Amino acid sequence: MRTTTVVIGAGHSGLAMSRCLSERSIDHVVLERSEVANSWRTERWDSLRLLTPNWQCRLPGYTYEGDDPDGFMTMPEVAEFITDYAKLIAAPVRAGTTVNSVRRDDGEYRVTTDQGEWRCETVVLASGAFGVPRVPPFAHSVPLAVTMLTPLQYRNAEQLGEGGALVVGASATGVQIAAEIQRSGRQVTMAVGEHVRGPRMYRGRDIHWWMEAAGVLDERYDEVDDIVRARRVPSMQLAGSPERATFDLNALTGMGVKLVGRLAGINDGRAQFSGSLRNKCDLADLKLGRLLDTIDEWATANGLDDAVPPPHRFDSTAVDAAPPLGLDLGSGEIETIIWATGFRPDYSWLDVPVLDAKGMIRHDGGVVDSPGMYLIGSPFLRRRKSSFIDGARVDALELISELSAYLDRRGSPPGAGVNTGS
Ligand SMILES: Cc1cc2nc3c(=O)[nH]c(=O)nc-3n(C[C@H](O)[C@H](O)[C@H](O)COP(=O)(O)OP(=O)(O)OC[C@H]3O[C@@H](n4cnc5c(N)ncnc54)[C@H](O)[C@@H]3O)c2cc1C
Repeated sequence: MRTTTVVIGAGHSGLAMSRCLSERSIDHVVLERSEVANSWRTERWDSLRLLTPNWQCRLPGYTYEGDDPDGFMTMPEVAEFITDYAKLIAAPVRAGTTVNSVRRDDGEYRVTTDQGEWRCETVVLASGAFGVPRVPPFAHSVPLAVTMLTPLQYRNAEQLGEGGALVVGASATGVQIAAEIQRSGRQVTMAVGEHVRGPRMYRGRDIHWWMEAAGVLDERYDEVDDIVRARRVPSMQLAGSPERATFDLNALTGMGVKLVGRLAGINDGRAQFSGSLRNKCDLADLKLGRLLDTIDEWATANGLDDAVPPPHRFDSTAVDAAPPLGLDLGSGEIETIIWATGFRPDYSWLDVPVLDAKGMIRHDGGVVDSPGMYLIGSPFLRRRKSSFIDGARVDALELISELSAYLDRRGSPPGAGVNTGS
């Protein structure tokens, strides 16, 4: 089968690209191993809600129009939102089609799936940046009596035994799961490394409203000092709850969660924590202060000071003077470990030499280091918000220009690959 562009993945990123391709009459298919919005349906825990406000759910030609713009969608609601988008734009999705290989062959791409082979001039990788949980290699030293779960396996606290839980990682996923388990009556210990602190509300408005207004979310990949590092920065400690609650470490210790330093290793069944907890928290407090300074400056420059409550600062993160540096995982105190240590993409099916030593795609703002190949949905792809729904909207609008310019250079008129039967 032949088409001009194969889009791999029918999450919001793939669909945003599909809408842009259709607008330019570029013939394409969207190949999806499961169904539209698969990751929101199958890879998220039960209580999860978006941490981005509903009003910020925007895709090319589509915005949230429900009756709760300041709320946070549940997972079934997100899946419905994205499914409705696919219908609205009549995206040519081939569901139940797993891509097993992408090869460059004779100046074009050969995309092999479990439903046959596609040949195309351009490929858009929209298969998701968060499909594989990152688990540290020393996880294999955890005693057998301790159950280990990744965020993809965690559904709710009832899945766990009654004993304590060690949540490793203090980003958005870690803090949300830790809070839920602690509320269920199980004692949570949280291992805290580098993290990004954020209040849900500041000066009467959502932190995402401020970050958008002040241009923080729109910061571009070619403007930051160190894009490699920026792409690795952990997600902000945020959750979307109807109460608009803040989920920083002070909120967690207020619930009874115990904080320890970064989990550095496991020796003879003993978890060893770094002594850097105070430093990591000081750094996060400092960075939060800088973010709030930026917001306050923007508010003043834009004449908002009389319209919103005055600037204020949050208490420093409180940590014990001497948090434990070790914990015997064989004592029975910890029954479950949750590895909230981040995610990575799965490109095991990509047979084009575009991966760096860390297994990440080499690209310049989504233009991959292989002619006619594009990436979307990856952290800080083109701007700070790239991995958010709203980020895919603007990134798709820019990437489509790159893609169609490439086709123009090749001399491929729109719709050139319509012959899908050959
Ligand atoms: C826990 C969590 C919470 C998040 N919360 C928010 C939030 O509140 N707000 C926000 O804006 N963003 C949030 N994100 C970030 C981001 O919006 C989501 O990760 C989103 O799912 C990314 O969309 P995507 O289309 O890029 O990728 P995905 O939604 O992952 O879609 C990729 C699709 O590709 C398919 N696929 C993968 N491999 C293949 C293959 N080989 N062949 C065929 N199909 C394949 C998958 O089945 C999947 O449907 C969150 C992410 C996570 C992990």
